[in-house]
Amino acid sequence: MTEKIRVRFAPSPTGFLHIGGARTALFNWLYAKHNNGTFILRIEDTDRTRSTDEYIEAIIEGMKWLGLEWDEGPFRQTERFDIYKKYIDKLLETGKAYYCYCSSEDLEERRRLAISTGKPQKYDGRCRHLKEPVKEVNPVVRFKMPHHGQTVVDDLIRGHVVFENEQLDDLIILRSDGTPTYNLTVVVDDVDMKITHVIRGDDHLNNTPRQIQIYEALNYSVPKFAHLPMILGSDKARLSKRHGATSVMAYYEMGYLPDALVNYLVRLGWSYGDQEVFTKEELIQYFSFDHVGSAAAVFNPEKLLWLNSQYIINASNEKLAELVIPFLIKERIISEGESLDKEWLMKAIGTLKERSRTLIELAVSLRYYIAEEVEYDTKAKEKFLNQKSRDLLIDLKEGLASIEDFSHQKLEEIFKAVTEKHGVKLKDLAQPVRVAMTGGTASPGIFELIEIVGKKKTLRRLEKAVKAIEA
Ligand code: GLU
Repeated sequence: MTEKIRVRFAPSPTGFLHIGGARTALFNWLYAKHNNGTFILRIEDTDRTRSTDEYIEAIIEGMKWLGLEWDEGPFRQTERFDIYKKYIDKLLETGKAYYCYCSSEDLEERRRLAISTGKPQKYDGRCRHLKEPVKEVNPVVRFKMPHHGQTVVDDLIRGHVVFENEQLDDLIILRSDGTPTYNLTVVVDDVDMKITHVIRGDDHLNNTPRQIQIYEALNYSVPKFAHLPMILGSDKARLSKRHGATSVMAYYEMGYLPDALVNYLVRLGWSYGDQEVFTKEELIQYFSFDHVGSAAAVFNPEKLLWLNSQYIINASNEKLAELVIPFLIKERIISEGESLDKEWLMKAIGTLKERSRTLIELAVSLRYYIAEEVEYDTKAKEKFLNQKSRDLLIDLKEGLASIEDFSHQKLEEIFKAVTEKHGVKLKDLAQPVRVAMTGGTASPGIFELIEIVGKKKTLRRLEKAVKAIEA
C-alpha cells in the first residue's frame, strides 16, 4: 500500500499573502491534488508581536481568490501550546533537551569573546550538564544538538545536502516566557498532522538539519523535503516591492484573473516542455518535482500581463461580464447597484476582449459603450474633428436617423452612401466617427461599435461632434 500524501502550507501571519507564499501554497496544493492527497493550512502565529488576525484573514482571502482550497484547517499554532508542551517534556525527560539559565547579558558577553578569539559564535553548552536548577531564574529550554557527524537532507529538488553537526547550535525550543519556538513547533505539527512532504521556500533549508535532529530525538520518521527555488526580481535581487506589486490581492485590484496568476506562479520554478498556458486540470495532471529546478526563478511582470491577456481572450463573455462589474464601479462607469443588460454587456465585451490585458482595461474600454457622453482626446479631436469631416458627419447622422435596423449590413450601406457621395475612402469617414463615438482613435470595428451603442446614443454623439467642430 502506498502512503497517503499529506502536505501543508504554513504561513506566518506577519504580512499579506505575497507572490512567494502563494507559489509555495500552490506547489503544495498541486502536489496534493496530483496525488489525491490532503492539503492542510496551518497558521504559524507563535510570534505574537508580529502576527495579526487581519493578516490571517488576508492570507485566507488570497488563497480563496486563487482557488487554493485546503482540506484541513486552518490550524493556529497559538491554540496548540499544550501539544508542544507535551513534546518538550518528552525531550526533557529523555535527556534530549535541558534547561538553560544563562542570562542574555552573559550570552552577549560570551558571544563577543568568541568573536574576538575567533571561536564559533554558538551557545557554548554551559548548562548542558547542570545538576541543579538555578534559583529565581526563569530558564529557557534548549535542544541538545549532536556535536559530531553530519546531518543529510535528501531534498526532492536540491538533492543530497550535507550539514556538519558542529555548525548546529543547541537551539532554544521554549522561551523563558513559556512560548515554544519555530523549529520545535514546526516539527511537532508536521508529526502530529502526519505530514509526508514538507514543501517550502529554500530560505528554510538551513533549518532543516536542525529539524531533522528533533525528529530523530523524538523517534519519528523524517518526512520528505522539497525546498523551492528563490524568486528574484529582474535585477537578480530577492523579490521585493521595488520590483512591482508583491501582494496577491494587489493583482486582483489591478484586474488580473486568478487563474492567470496561478498559471504564472507555477512557472516560477516548474516547467513542462515549452508549454506556457495550462488549465488547472493540466497542472494537476502534469505536476511533479521532477520538473522543478533548483535555480532561482525571475519574476517577470510583463509575462504575467501577457498571460492575463490570454486568459481574458479565452474566458467566456458571460464570465467576464460578471468579473468586470466591480471594475466598472471602481472606474465610476456605472454606480453601485446599477445593472446592465447582461446579453448586451456580453456582446460589448466580445468586441473588446482581444484588446484588453486586464479587467481594468476592459472596464475602461466599456466606458464608451456605456457612458452618456464621451470625452475627446485632444490630439484625436484636432486631427479628425474638423471642417473636412463636418459634412461627412452630418450626412452620416442623417442617414442613420432614417433607419431603425442597426445591423452590420445596414450600417455598411449607410456608410457607403456617404463615402460615395463625397468621393472619400471608408477610413476618411470611419476615423472621425470613431473619435465622435469613443473620444479616441482606437476601438473595435466601427460597425459593431455603433450596433452595440445603439441609435439614440450614436446620433447624440455625432451631433455633439458636429457642434464641437462648429464651436
Ligand atoms: N512559517 C514559516 C514561514 O512562513 C514556514 C515554515 C515551514 O514551511 O516550515 O516562513
